[in-house]
Amino acid sequence: MKVKRRDFLKGVAAGGTLAALGKPDLVGAHERGDRRDYPSLLGMLYDATLCVGCQVCMVACKKANNMPYEHSGLDRMWDNPRDLSSSTLNIIKKYSIGGGDQKDNIEGHSFIKRHCMHCIDASCVSACPVSAMSKDKMTGMVTYNKDACIGCRYCQIACPFNIPKFEWETPVPKIVKCQLCSHLIKQGGISACCEACPTGASLFGPVESLVAEARRRMAMIPGTYYDFPVADIGGRIAPKFLKHRAANYVNSIYGEHEVGGTQVMYLSGVPFEKLGLPGLPDESFAKISDGIQYAIYKGMVYPIVVLGGLIYMIGRKEEGDKKK
Ligand code: SF4
Ligand code: SF4
Ligand code: SF4
Repeated sequence: MKVKRRDFLKGVAAGGTLAALGKPDLVGAHERGDRRDYPSLLGMLYDATLCVGCQVCMVACKKANNMPYEHSGLDRMWDNPRDLSSSTLNIIKKYSIGGGDQKDNIEGHSFIKRHCMHCIDASCVSACPVSAMSKDKMTGMVTYNKDACIGCRYCQIACPFNIPKFEWETPVPKIVKCQLCSHLIKQGGISACCEACPTGASLFGPVESLVAEARRRMAMIPGTYYDFPVADIGGRIAPKFLKHRAANYVNSIYGEHEVGGTQVMYLSGVPFEKLGLPGLPDESFAKISDGIQYAIYKGMVYPIVVLGGLIYMIGRKEEGDKKK
């Protein structure tokens, strides 16, 4: 990459602005903590054994977040995104190596819903150099400020779940991801995907209640019918229950401990790694990287000035590549 002197100086100026926004050893860190730091953690329990793959949650997500439909086929007849993208914040995928009669069995098939995990100690928040990614101090929801985002994509690299997506198709691309429908939650509502889910597979509520509900399910006798709450377990909307037959659950809650815990958690009858959920340590990546960052940046301003220069120049190069 050839860098003109004028571009470099502009970049350094951008870096200076970043430096003025915050000390390097404090960037993002003031927004972080462990689960005790959030008085009312909100999240979601996705029970793959209750999911029928109807994708109503995907439609509800698009509607609630004003996201356009996506066509991966040439006929443009159907909204059929292949993965998360800048216009798809939530996707239902399918694990399958067997017949349709063996649902939630490693020899059969299972659905899996993917979107932001709302990590309790989120590495995207830690990595963002301008605090565009942040955690709500009460509920722990991980949201972002599009106006503050400089498009550096550090959050994308830092996310252990490969969630944030970049708006490559726009002239000034920014990061996009599920924000737990924070706009609805702030008005007393719940996440649109949970409200729309007809089976209760996506359940909204306080994280503590969701963990208790997940434990209750794991203790059920497989094949026996029980009442399962639908949509919300936290009293934001009128309680509703459906009778389902208990599945033979994998004996753990994915997200209870992974990378310091996540506010979106999973139950399944098929091992989580088969569903694309990575095996991760209990310690958050943000915590591990803190030590390294502090050692490098403590008391220094120059690294972020250089970082600003690089971000600016990378942005210029990408703009140039797109024009070509
Ligand atoms: S899943 Fe990724 S984007 Fe979502 S909070 Fe965790 S680190 Fe951030
Ligand atoms: S919480 Fe909202 S933004 Fe996130 S996946 Fe559900 S509907 Fe989409
Ligand atoms: S709406 Fe519920 S049952 Fe339908 S695909 Fe989404 S999570 Fe599964």
